[in-house]
Parts: sequence; C-alpha cells; structure tokens
Amino acid sequence: MKKLSLVGRVVVLASTVAMVVVLVVATALVAILSLRRAEARESRAKDVTAATLRVENIAFDLQSSLRGYVLSGDQHFITLFNDAQTTMPVALGRLTTLVADDQEQLRRARATDGLLRAYVADYAQPVIKIRRLSPYAALSPASLDEDRRRANEIRGTLGTILAVEQQRSVARSKHSREVARAAVIVGSVALALSAGLVLLFGAWVARGVAAPVRRASSAAAQVAAGDFDVRLDESGAGEVGELLSAFNSMTRALELGRRELLEQNERLRESEQHKRDLISMVSHEIRTPLASVVGFTSLLLEREFPPDEQRRYLEIVDQQARRLASLAGDFLDVQLLEGGGFSFDYAPFDLVELANEQARLFFSHSSAHTIDVDLPSDPVVVNADRDRIAQVIGNLLSNAIKYSPSGGNVRLLLTANDGGAELSVEDEGMGIPAADRARIFEKFFRGADAASAIGGTGLGLAVAREIVMSHGGGIEVDSEPGRGSRFTVRLPRVSTPVSA
Ligand code: ADP
Repeated sequence: MKKLSLVGRVVVLASTVAMVVVLVVATALVAILSLRRAEARESRAKDVTAATLRVENIAFDLQSSLRGYVLSGDQHFITLFNDAQTTMPVALGRLTTLVADDQEQLRRARATDGLLRAYVADYAQPVIKIRRLSPYAALSPASLDEDRRRANEIRGTLGTILAVEQQRSVARSKHSREVARAAVIVGSVALALSAGLVLLFGAWVARGVAAPVRRASSAAAQVAAGDFDVRLDESGAGEVGELLSAFNSMTRALELGRRELLEQNERLRESEQHKRDLISMVSHEIRTPLASVVGFTSLLLEREFPPDEQRRYLEIVDQQARRLASLAGDFLDVQLLEGGGFSFDYAPFDLVELANEQARLFFSHSSAHTIDVDLPSDPVVVNADRDRIAQVIGNLLSNAIKYSPSGGNVRLLLTANDGGAELSVEDEGMGIPAADRARIFEKFFRGADAASAIGGTGLGLAVAREIVMSHGGGIEVDSEPGRGSRFTVRLPRVSTPVSA
C-alpha cells in the first residue's frame, strides 16, 4: 500500500480531530437543550402546582366562609364567600390553560372546575338561602355530610393533579440529569479520544519523519567519512520516502564516481608501469645491435683486417643496423596503429612470388633451420599493399626462426581457392601456451617463456594483424607448447592475373 504523504497525514489528523470536536459540541448542545427543556418543564410543573394550590385555597375559602356564615349568620362571611367565588373562574382558567397540552390533567382540571361550580351553585348558594330562612335546617347533619363529601371530592381531584405533576417533574428532572451525565461521558470520551489521537499523530510523525531523518543524518555522517556503500531503507511517508530514495541515488552516484576514479587511477598506474616497461624494453632492444655496430665499426677503423674478415664484420654491422632500422619501423608502425594513420598502396601482385622472395631472404643466413616452401605453380593474385604484406610474411618467418632456438624445419605454405589466398608459416619451436594465445596479437604483449629468453618488442604480430584486417583478411594461430606453432593469414583474392 502506498504510504500517506506528510500533508496527507496532517489532513487525516485535522479531519479526525475536527470530527471529534464536532461530536463534542453536538453532544454538549443536545445536553444543554435537554436541560433547558427539563428546566422549562420543571417551571411549568411549578406553575401548575401553584395554580392548583390557588384553586385549593379558593375551595377552602368557599367552604370555610360558608361554614362561618351557617354557624354565625355573620354577613362578613358572605363577603368572603363572594370574594372567593369571584376569584374562582380566574384561578380555574389559569389552571386549565397551564395543563392544556396534557389531556389527562386537562380532564382533571375541567372536572375540578365542574365540581367547584357545582359546589357553589348546587350546594353553597341553596344552603345560604336555607340559613336565611332557618338556621337549624342549614346545620343539619345531612347538609354537613354533603359539604364534606363535595369538599373531599374537590380536594381529591386537585390532589391527583398535584401528585401527577410532582411525579412528572421528578421523572423529567431524572431524565435531564441522565442526559447531562451522558453528555458529560460522551464529551469526556471524545476529549480523551482527541488527546489520544494527537498523541498517536505525534508517534506517527516521529516514526514517519523523525526516525528516517535521524537515519539519514547518521548515514550522511558515514558518507562524509567516505563510506559510500551506505544505503537507507526507503520506506517512509511520501516526501520522506522520496528524500531517502534521493539520498540512496546520491550515494549510488558517489559510489559509481569513486569506482570510476579508482579504475581510472588503476589505468593510469598501469599505463605508467607500461611506459616504464616500454622504456626499459626499447633501451634493451636498441642497446645490443647498437653495441655491435659501434664495436665493429671502431674495430674496422682502428685496424687493418684481411678482406674476408673485414667483409664478415661489415655483414654483422649491416645486419645489426637493419635490426635497428626494423625496430624503428616497428615503433613508427605502432604510432600509426594508435593514431589510426595506416595508409596502404593497393595494387594487384602475385603472392607466390612475394612468398618466394621472403623465404629466400630469411633463410639465406640461418644454417640451424631448414625450410620447406610449398607454393602453387600458378600465380595467386591479391589486391594489396605489397610492402606491407611482405612485412607480415617477414614477421611470421622471423618469429618462426626466433622462437625455434634449437633449429628445426619451417614450412611456408600457400594455397588458393575462389574465396581467397591462405598463407601459413609452421615451425617446430617452443610453441605458445593456451593462456597466451589470445593475447599475442595485443601490442607490447610478449609470452612469458619468449620474453625471458628471446629479445623482442611484442609489436610484430599486432602490426601484422592490423595490416591483414585492413585488407579485409584475418590472421590466426594454432600451437602446441613444446611442439611448434602455425600462423595462418587469409587474404581476399582478385581473379585478374598479373601481366608479366
Ligand atoms: P616479439 O616477437 O617482438 O615479441 P611479436 O608480436 O612478433 O613480438 O610476438 C608476440 C609474442 O608472440 C612473442 O613474444 C611470443 O611470445 C609469441 N610468438 C610469436 N610467434 C611465435 C612463434 N612462432 N612461436 C612461439 N611464440 C611466438
């Protein structure tokens, strides 16, 4: 699952806290409204109680003033009776209005109204009239019983109204207390929840931001100390994850850069070593022929020698001078090889003739070696740079002699087919170990066995391969260490015969 970004996390937290706050406020509002309603109901219940008590007082006033008049005949009681009778409709009206929304209580209020009016009209007023006529008749036990019965009935109804109202008032205040308690509980839980959420968010931020940032800072210290291998776990909230992955990319790039620098350094070291080897090789290769040339020339200049001895010395000088010239030629070729500046004079010529010429040149002096030349009788024409191809054949023949120090047979073989000409030089010399075979065409490479015993620059085969490949041909080697080697050169052929 994709990790939430920091902004996402803040939005989630803010919305959750906002929801909790809304919940708290809504609960508080419900509680306040409920308490208000309870208060309103309580005050209404108080009003109903007061109105009921007022009606009860009037009923009591009616009854007591009637009794007072019946017993004493005092007109003052009639005045009190009339006052009570006057205030009665107002008190009854108020009670009826107050309980108008409650059918049961309204029914009781109306019943009280009826009972009181009946008490006044059907009992009290006839009794007053009878008292005026006969005091004793008004005081009869039957009349008094009737008075008690009616008064009790009125008090009973009013008592019921009071009791019901009180009961309701108790139930309502209990309900509002419960609502208030529930509101307090919900509010406290919600507040605790939001506090918990804020704490959780702190932990979330610490885990998602602080911890990775701490890891990044200690990794940065490692990088500063040169350890570019350090990698960070890229998990983390959106932006943090991106930062960690950018950090890893940076260390990877630094590591790569360092590796490249080390490799470059190694190459420079190798090239420095190479240069030193080259200088020592060149000076060694030049010193020997040069010493011969200088030595024999001074000898010839200082003393008179018989003609044939003089000629022998001069031949040595000539041979060594040629060797120096060939070395200079090799170095020049290598320079051309590196600069890609080889240029060839292409012209068709007979390879059979060239091979013969080279064989005669190389084997006229060597008495330790025998040569087998196996060439076709017909000309094999190639379109190539004759001097350069001569250089290639010469190099192969010179190597065959050079690397067969104990002598042996050298075979020069030329075959031709429609595709091209194939020229091989075989010897019975020291051979080339398999590990060296792949490298002998590299410039300056010298086989360990060869280098330890025989002089050379490691350039001949590199130049030969460059020449052959530039002519669209190829060169390969086959060898058995201790038994000899065979070098094969293939060149493309032209069918036109060379005019004599
Ligand atoms: P150089 O002969 O001056 O060393 P080359 O480029 O001609 O340079 O030869 C490269 C290496 O190949 C030699 O040093 C030698 O190890 C090996 N090599 C070439 N020709 C022969 C051969 N005929 N027999 C054995 N080893 C050979």
